[in-house]
Amino acid sequence: MSEKTLNPFKIAQLQLREACHALGEEEAVYQILSEPERVLEVTIPVKMDNGSFRVFKGYRVQHNDASGPVKGGIRFHSHVTKDEVKALAMWMTFKCGVVGLPYGGAKGGIIVDPDELSKGELERLSRGYVRAIAPIIGERRDIPAPDVNTNGQTMAWMVDEYSHLRGVGQTLPAAFTGKPVEFGGCLARKEATGYGVALMIREAAKYSGLDIKDLKIAIQGFGNVGSYTAMYVQAMGAAVVAVSDVSCCLVNEEGLDIKEIMDYTAANKILSGFQGKARQLDRDEIFKQVCDIFAPCALENAITSETVHDLKVGIICEGANGPTTPEAEKILLQKGVLIVPDILANAGGVTVSYFEWVQNLHNYYWRFEEVQQKQEIKMTDAFKKVVELVRTHAVDMRKAAYMLSIKTLAMPMRLRGWV
Ligand code: GLU
Repeated sequence: MSEKTLNPFKIAQLQLREACHALGEEEAVYQILSEPERVLEVTIPVKMDNGSFRVFKGYRVQHNDASGPVKGGIRFHSHVTKDEVKALAMWMTFKCGVVGLPYGGAKGGIIVDPDELSKGELERLSRGYVRAIAPIIGERRDIPAPDVNTNGQTMAWMVDEYSHLRGVGQTLPAAFTGKPVEFGGCLARKEATGYGVALMIREAAKYSGLDIKDLKIAIQGFGNVGSYTAMYVQAMGAAVVAVSDVSCCLVNEEGLDIKEIMDYTAANKILSGFQGKARQLDRDEIFKQVCDIFAPCALENAITSETVHDLKVGIICEGANGPTTPEAEKILLQKGVLIVPDILANAGGVTVSYFEWVQNLHNYYWRFEEVQQKQEIKMTDAFKKVVELVRTHAVDMRKAAYMLSIKTLAMPMRLRGWV
């Protein structure tokens, strides 16, 4: 690989630098936004089922609170690093800025392979993490949510723990989002990131003069984001010809049956072993499938200077955070590929988290369709603003999205007297 760096924090700083430059923004704005405001590193002792103790390392990073309380998910993964969480927190700030949410960015992570832990151990780890970060979070300060390998159940444990600690007899649902609907969650939140990616695929197709009904799509990653992206693009009329996860890649040129695959993974966790109408290939074959749109919906650094040469698509829509390295991006842009950047493409999750938070604070809940309509308006408006900057400043979509976001952020920073 010829990548200068795969460090996501360095990549995030580079993206910020280039966008500040394109905007002619003053150095102080770059200086403030290039580092997080606060980085908390914690150790979490967990009593394991066999009576032994294991100590886990975790982080909570708060990037910038100029626009309001900070917000972002918590991931459980064996490859979590401090720099990764710093980058993800920074991307959250820009994501909230692009869709115009009154939040700054944050992110959390624990270094753990959740598949090695029992449900009870995961619950104790989640509660221990909340005890460790409780002094710096809160519904008006920093509102966590799910991310890779965390879900509504994780958030429910965390709300319970946090309420015991801070609520003193009260339940504090607005301190976390992405909760189960039966416990203060928001209808359409679970589907929101994937639904948003599908909306952005539809808009990108329209912008390129294409009809989504004529398109073939390949999706890398079949977790929460990848699976719902697949479901919604199929509902919009596209053919999902390939999906992949850590275990394999499933291909059907006529279009996969996504509902059947989702039922299979709900029961078996991974794609491997699926018996329906699909060929099962090695997972990296996903990059080589003949299609119009590629949606990376797994982790950072998926499209590198190596894998980029396998891709033969016209549009990439980034469901994951940071899936394309700068080197790969350069090659793609030279080829004229349209890249809908992560901070716009996957902003649906935090957008509906915002709706959840608003509902929690008012204790009044909206219908599923109402939530999706509001999400569609926010995201299609953001898409329009970004492509307008593409047109007026002759920049690519990522730079335009950063520029939009930095403009939104610089104003409260000036008004507060920070710059
Ligand atoms: N983890 C999601 C993201 O990366 C959602 C964050 C949130 O809802 O606060 O955007």
